[in-house]
Amino acid sequence: MRATGGDVVIVGAGLVGLSVAWDLARRGAVVKVFDRGEAARAASWAGAGMLAPHSEGLDDAAMLELCAQSLAMYPEFVERLREEGKADARLHLDGILNVAYGPDRAGELHVRAAALRASGAGCEWLDAPALRLSEPALAPSACGALLVRGEGSVDNRLLGRALTEACVARGVTIVRDAGDVAIECDVRRARGVRSILGFTSAGCVVNATGAWAARLPGVPEAYSPPVEPVKGQMFALAIPRGFVRHTTWIPGAYLVPRDDGRLMVGATVERTGFDERVTARGQHDLLAAVMRAAPSLGGFTVAETWAGLRPGTPDGRPFLGPSGLDGLWLATGHARNGILLAPVTGRLLGAAIAGESLEALHPFLLARLRTEPALAARTTHS
Ligand SMILES: Cc1cc2nc3c(=O)[nH]c(=O)nc-3n(C[C@H](O)[C@H](O)[C@H](O)COP(=O)(O)OP(=O)(O)OC[C@H]3O[C@@H](n4cnc5c(N)ncnc54)[C@H](O)[C@@H]3O)c2cc1C
Repeated sequence: MRATGGDVVIVGAGLVGLSVAWDLARRGAVVKVFDRGEAARAASWAGAGMLAPHSEGLDDAAMLELCAQSLAMYPEFVERLREEGKADARLHLDGILNVAYGPDRAGELHVRAAALRASGAGCEWLDAPALRLSEPALAPSACGALLVRGEGSVDNRLLGRALTEACVARGVTIVRDAGDVAIECDVRRARGVRSILGFTSAGCVVNATGAWAARLPGVPEAYSPPVEPVKGQMFALAIPRGFVRHTTWIPGAYLVPRDDGRLMVGATVERTGFDERVTARGQHDLLAAVMRAAPSLGGFTVAETWAGLRPGTPDGRPFLGPSGLDGLWLATGHARNGILLAPVTGRLLGAAIAGESLEALHPFLLARLRTEPALAARTTHS
């Protein structure tokens, strides 16, 4: 284990921190995870659970590759968690629909289909009658849809429960309600963390604090990742099971059916700092998109509304790997793909902290922003 001289301490018990903890525990490391709140609650609970590298329209080859790798890991990840964590995270990989309501959008989706086929990704065009058969809840004005095969969804709240229990079963200590945990460093390296329990020394500290990663107390500025909160609001409808079958992108929103009969509808993209309020405008925009695309959903009960903060980064890539300060590692900045990226993040960070090669992490190191100014200057993604 590279983290010589002590245990591994992870700050942040979201899906990202827990995935790293679980991987390291399976490699035999002694791991403690600290969170100021409950485990798997923040963005990891608020997310929709889509597993959609292609439907997200990622144009960054390194990021697309990372997402595709993580998607491929999902069936085994969920199966192992079912064995060790006892909860079934309800993985569905029956494809994601991208629906067109007019010829312009249909044309764009045909272009995307050609690109997907050229890259070897499986997809299929459903014409209007085929789409109606597949998803009768959509408005008759839906003129066709691109079905991206192999994509789908996971119930991220169940996944959080399974990961928490699997970590505990592997001997990980999860310290909840630990207060605002701070890193303690000397001039050479990170030494451990300070929490309501006092000082805990560590050979390796992982910053997995999601949208709060740039604010983790005690981190020298040069090693602090430029992560920004990007708010997303959602709501859930209580619908009969099977009323919407596929995860479906409609103009201005997406629909993600759950096995328990809820339909998750999301999500806004708002740069309003650390504001987690559910607002009338945010909910109005989502409801309006749903009423246009699938008016038959209008009679169902709104069962829940919520908001969460995605950890956004300047170039849309997460920060994975050593921070540059000895003993301080980063696993944050997963923006809108942190649920999708949880398995690969756990595997790559676990391997690197255990002393295996860092090569796969190179495109995701904090140092890239210093060495690739053109990349750093690219538009912020959500
Ligand atoms: C509305 C919405 C929809 C989304 N949909 C999808 C989707 O469909 N698919 C997908 O892949 N991703 C989706 N995402 C993104 C995904 O949810 C996130 O990228 C992912 O959950 C980030 O996980 P995390 O563990 O890094 O952060 P979080 O889950 O936010 O966890 C960070 C943890 O760090 C803790 N923390 C912070 N600072 C401190 C401190 N100083 N001391 C102690 N603890 C601290 C917090 O309490 C929190 O528990 C969505 C996000 C939102 C908000």
